[in-house]
Amino acid sequence: MSVDYDVVIVGGGPAGSSAAAYLAMAGLSVAVFEGENFPRPHVGESLVPATTRVLVEIGVMDKIEAAGFPRKYGAAWTSSQTRNVTADQSSAFTHELGVADILFSERDQPGVDRDYTFHVDRSRFDLILLKHAESLGAKVFQGIRAMRVDFDDPAKVTLTCKVGSSTVDVTAKMVIDASGRQTMLGRQLGTKDADPVFNQYAIHAWFEGLDRSSVANDPEKVDYIYVHFLPISDTWVWQIPITDTVTSIGVVTQKHRFAEANLDREKFFWNFLESRPDLCAALRKTEQVTPLKVEGDYSYAMRQICGDRYVLIGDAARFVDPIFSSGVSVALNSARLACHDIVAAVEADDLSQARFATFEKKIRNGVRNWYEFISVYYRLNILFTTFVADPRYRLDIIRLLQGDLYDEEEPEVLRIMRETVTAVENDPSHLWHSYLGTLRAPILTPAF
Ligand SMILES: Cc1cc2nc3c(=O)[nH]c(=O)nc-3n(C[C@H](O)[C@H](O)[C@H](O)COP(=O)(O)OP(=O)(O)OC[C@H]3O[C@@H](n4cnc5c(N)ncnc54)[C@H](O)[C@@H]3O)c2cc1C
Repeated sequence: MSVDYDVVIVGGGPAGSSAAAYLAMAGLSVAVFEGENFPRPHVGESLVPATTRVLVEIGVMDKIEAAGFPRKYGAAWTSSQTRNVTADQSSAFTHELGVADILFSERDQPGVDRDYTFHVDRSRFDLILLKHAESLGAKVFQGIRAMRVDFDDPAKVTLTCKVGSSTVDVTAKMVIDASGRQTMLGRQLGTKDADPVFNQYAIHAWFEGLDRSSVANDPEKVDYIYVHFLPISDTWVWQIPITDTVTSIGVVTQKHRFAEANLDREKFFWNFLESRPDLCAALRKTEQVTPLKVEGDYSYAMRQICGDRYVLIGDAARFVDPIFSSGVSVALNSARLACHDIVAAVEADDLSQARFATFEKKIRNGVRNWYEFISVYYRLNILFTTFVADPRYRLDIIRLLQGDLYDEEEPEVLRIMRETVTAVENDPSHLWHSYLGTLRAPILTPAF
């Protein structure tokens, strides 16, 4: 049967454009339908090193390097509380509460050829990726919104797109949904579930002229991503360098706090920052250069991430919380894993769900491990910073922070962290019991 393309992709963000690049490189005919006209702004500016493999594999790394994005060598956490704590009840090891930092070069990462990643202005980064896919032969249609996918014909899919005031149908052997948090296919198929625990809310903007050294753990580490804990449970601030002088600042908290505070965005943002006087004072001296933007309702999962003639990748499959900067890495790595299966499926002329089993297994591993890591972090912050500082666990934690978590059901360090959380929960006399956060994730529940 003749179709317009082998594969159609909804969305030209990092997931969609890297998938288009992989498929075009494999000789498939592929078209990307992107609803916006790039460049467009987007949240999600700090990468983890597991993105490097994909950027190198699709041949775009030279363009990313040439764009001059700030290099990210590590990550750091700061806190308003600074007293020493004991790592666990059987150890004499101590560290400063809530304070930690890691350098990616501490752990060699197989297949990753550099010891840094990037902080990116997403309008520029996403445009580079999309143009790169186009240069490899993918057809890219911008400003064209996909409306729905018709699966009625077992031999093809039909994607209906809105073009001006009319609609156009495009046929293909299969569809990839890379529509991000708009989750086009998940909503159409009714497979989207709000996360039972996380209901996060973020408010963010760019600021010119922040003296990053005044809020850094160490003046040598000003270009790290900083996660500043606020003395409000489950609440933190990101600090991401966008250029030499522009810094992205975002407050992440539980959504109900915004409703309860009954304040406008501006007041809410500054009220929360005032709980960290050092950070607030430094930020007050800067100039805000973009309006405050809000992101809400972003914690969800799809019950199904592939089926006959379709695959969901990136945020279209799931998103929980940005604490470990995992989003773009999941987007790129889900594209990598999906395209491996898709190329084989097209060659075999069999696009049934079973052909996407490897993708499904690895991506489930990856997002389940991210989810568990995030859950442990929110349940017991102190456990996270303690493990980072503890030589027994440090490299295993760095491995997770680098984004290497797709190949195993559950990395050993996560199991130990999960068991420690349970032990602390069950023992009211435990030194850490009073530090338990309020978000109690059902850690053993399947991630999708
Ligand atoms: C508060 C917050 C902070 C974050 N911080 C980080 C971070 O520091 N680091 C990180 O890695 N990640 C971060 N993320 C996550 C990151 O933003 C996403 O994971 C990432 O952008 C996912 O890429 P994607 O390609 O799947 O989706 P997107 O980047 O959202 O791209 C999807 C594209 O699809 C298009 N589209 C949608 N619907 C349609 C349609 N019907 N037809 C045509 N086009 C359509 C959209 O216009 C969009 O361009 C953060 C997320 C949030 C909410």
